[in-house]
Amino acid sequence: MIRANNPTLKSWVEVPEGSDFPIQNLPFGIFKTKDSEPRVCSAIGGYVIDLAKVNDLAFFADLKIPRAIFYNQYINDFMALGKDVTRAVRDRLSEILDENETKWNSRDMAEHIFYKMDEVELLIPINIRDYTDFYSSIEHATNVGIMFRDPANALMPNWKHLPVGYHGRASSIVVSGTEIKRPKGQQIPKDSKQPVFGPCKLLDFELEMGFVIGQKTNLGDTVPIQAAEDFIFGMCLFNDWSARDIQKWEYVPLGPFLGKNFASTMSPWIVTMDALEPFRVSGPVQDPPVLPYLEYEGEKNYDIKLAVKIQPDGSEPTVVSESNFKYMYWNMSQQLTHHTVNGCNINVGDMYASGTISGKTPESYGSMLEISWQGTKSVQMADGTERKFLADGDTVVIEGWCEKDGVRIGFGEAVGKVLPADKENLIA
Ligand code: CA
Repeated sequence: MIRANNPTLKSWVEVPEGSDFPIQNLPFGIFKTKDSEPRVCSAIGGYVIDLAKVNDLAFFADLKIPRAIFYNQYINDFMALGKDVTRAVRDRLSEILDENETKWNSRDMAEHIFYKMDEVELLIPINIRDYTDFYSSIEHATNVGIMFRDPANALMPNWKHLPVGYHGRASSIVVSGTEIKRPKGQQIPKDSKQPVFGPCKLLDFELEMGFVIGQKTNLGDTVPIQAAEDFIFGMCLFNDWSARDIQKWEYVPLGPFLGKNFASTMSPWIVTMDALEPFRVSGPVQDPPVLPYLEYEGEKNYDIKLAVKIQPDGSEPTVVSESNFKYMYWNMSQQLTHHTVNGCNINVGDMYASGTISGKTPESYGSMLEISWQGTKSVQMADGTERKFLADGDTVVIEGWCEKDGVRIGFGEAVGKVLPADKENLIA
């Protein structure tokens, strides 16, 4: 067992009941204070841990990590050290934060290494090189197929043979808290052949999770499925905002474009695959059998509970979806192996999103498109208003967490507020 994962560990740092960040989590991120440049951090309870300071104070001395790795605005270089090193850092953190520790005198250093999380700014942790979005929930793909094509043939013939995906846009991935301007674009009015231009009317969220690459390959290489996990550093929450009316008009024949690339919101913490190890579960049976290069052994899905809330401006939030990452038909190893089977190279900092994660029941659908069934049903908000899609002023909050043996490993939040579209289409 990885030392830091021991469910019996307790920290001398107070961790409130229900916190996403017990001593068993220790995710990685980037923070800055009003007086400091961005630095690499971890989290425990309501605090960020300044890893640059922890390293300067020689707690990682034997790991011989260059100082600049932590005085950095991204965790890419840290991830690239490899899992042996990053695991040793996480284990060392769990040692020095352990309530039974006597060797490190770490309590004396507390004032130098902790900042209250709500008093710092959490920045986007990854310099995202490339972004790929999959479409790997069978429930979501089936729902969309029923709505847009044919209930009898909801899944395309390829869907159960390969993890369908497309190349997205890295430049517009933003960190939680960033406000999202309602996009504008072409739409086709019902029963019209002539498109119109204007603000998106069918703005949606997509409940997704992302995984981040920690090791690169060279052009021409394929990541074999047995090795795929070595390349995956960790995971985050991901809201892949979608403009359904723009998407519907533009997507044939090459797939999503401006309906998707205006924004995606990621949570600020990368929870390591190491920390998620205890939450492995079996995935759905894949029938028909997959081709040999996609065959895998062992438990490759993860039991991660997910929730989406919509909070209208000045009002209380309403939970509109409760889903679980374990529903994914295609797992991350299969996605990465398929992505590279043609020799496509991957880089440290690449982001791969799951696609919308829907469960079997309407309460677990991961988009308003499905929840409102293409705008034919309304969702009641706590403030008495109704939604079919997102309104200006709505804040969308995605949460995710695992729970087992009294340990809760959380991802924090991916939050974004919808602002009205610009009146002009010009840069001010
Ligand atoms: Ca998506």
